[in-house]
Amino acid sequence: MQSNAFPAYRGRFEYVCLGCGQRLPGDSLFYTCPHCGGVFLLEDLNFAELKLTSGQGWRDIFDERAKTANPKLRGIFRYYELLAPIFEEEDIVYLGEGLTPIVAASKALEAYVGQPLAYKNDGQNPSASFKDRGMACAFSFLKWLCRKNNWDEVLTVCASTGDTSAAAALYAAYVGEPLKSVVLLPHGKVTPEQLSQPLGSGARVLELPGVFDDCMKVVELLAENYRVALLNSKNSWRILGQESYAFEVAQWYNWDVSDLALFVPIGNAGNVTAIMAGFLKMHDLGIIEKLPRIFGVQSEHADPVYRYYSKPIDQRNYAAVEVKPSVAQAAMIGNPVSFPRVKALVEKYTALAGDQAFNVVQVKEQDIIESMLLANRHGHIACTQGGECLAGLRKAKEAKLISANELAVLDATAHSLKFSGFQQMYFANTYPAGYGIAPKTELSNKPELLLPENARSGVDAKEFAKLGAQAVVDRLGLQKK
Ligand SMILES: *Cc1c(COP(=O)(O)O)cnc(C)c1O
Ligand SMILES: [Zn+2]
Repeated sequence: MQSNAFPAYRGRFEYVCLGCGQRLPGDSLFYTCPHCGGVFLLEDLNFAELKLTSGQGWRDIFDERAKTANPKLRGIFRYYELLAPIFEEEDIVYLGEGLTPIVAASKALEAYVGQPLAYKNDGQNPSASFKDRGMACAFSFLKWLCRKNNWDEVLTVCASTGDTSAAAALYAAYVGEPLKSVVLLPHGKVTPEQLSQPLGSGARVLELPGVFDDCMKVVELLAENYRVALLNSKNSWRILGQESYAFEVAQWYNWDVSDLALFVPIGNAGNVTAIMAGFLKMHDLGIIEKLPRIFGVQSEHADPVYRYYSKPIDQRNYAAVEVKPSVAQAAMIGNPVSFPRVKALVEKYTALAGDQAFNVVQVKEQDIIESMLLANRHGHIACTQGGECLAGLRKAKEAKLISANELAVLDATAHSLKFSGFQQMYFANTYPAGYGIAPKTELSNKPELLLPENARSGVDAKEFAKLGAQAVVDRLGLQKK
């Protein structure tokens, strides 16, 4: 029964501005620094207390907690002390997020790629993307805040490339009063599946013409000037929740990540930030001994982070880019909000693990979609961003950035079904010119109608079964046994 007990440790959080170092108390809502406009990371001032437990001690705690029957500790909060240890049990929102499986590639795919690889299926989260990890934490924080402050109404807003709004609307719908959810989408720039999600969750869905970056600026203005809770990745509590990805990877491999190379698509750069922060935290506590390598992946149509890191250190200069249409639409961001976080964490990461520990590779649209098709033809459920990761691995191999003994763990950030429209455009050869994609017929697939559409009418069921069976036999050339 002991393992059902809620953890006793409590942290004390401060927002730390990455621009000017300003610190602000963690028990209120801040998104950008009031002094310099910079973004924050959250820091637990009691963190030293966690070091009183050994790395082995922590591994034992998390392994033991894997057996818990307490639903609050069954998702990302298995790693409660490493995430946001200020919440009480009642604050925690659990919708089944986290603890997603890592599925090793089949022998055939591994042979084709020439590298040991596996997918972590973050599409198996409740709203079918990794964004649920962050929302579980951000909404637990909002519940905690509302409880402490007796707030009777909070309006949550986010701009989204599709999945943030799906996740935000889902969690808001579950929590209910005093939260209400509004999402702001770039009109026509999210997939129909992604659009159906906040609509189905009952959120208010507002649209603007333009792209994600335009919507982001609008919600930033709103968050600065009105009483709304922002759920974009400027919300540092989301980043904290997303660190759970790193903790899960480490535990999956029995806390030995020394030969891993993680491939992560970069859009707004919140995910890659969180993953690095999570590994650094575990390393600091001795939970892991070596840091794994991290490969960020960007499309040539939205590649500001790649451009930055592709230059020698002394010539690096960050500039936003104008995005072009991308099948990796959830990562189609020209001015990532979390870029300063990436920069700060990469410095720490490479100082500990060497310059080779962090890379960004750039991939072509054609390779992204074809890598997704390739993965899914081998039993995976990768979205286009998951395809982007495989394209990134192939690129890294080509550029000799990865050696044959490393295990590549690719982030399938969403479920393939959310992005089936991009698969369909490939199969039907209907990509608008802007994508620069020329489908190959051998990768195409379509249903084959065996009999004319009127073949069923006026024919009894038994007779029709015979006709149908004969049609299958003819089409496939089956031999009698
Ligand atoms: C949000 C998202 C991304 C991009 O993640 P960032 O944290 O913005 O870098 C990639 N893939 C999917 C499916 C997403 O929803
Ligand atoms: Zn600042």
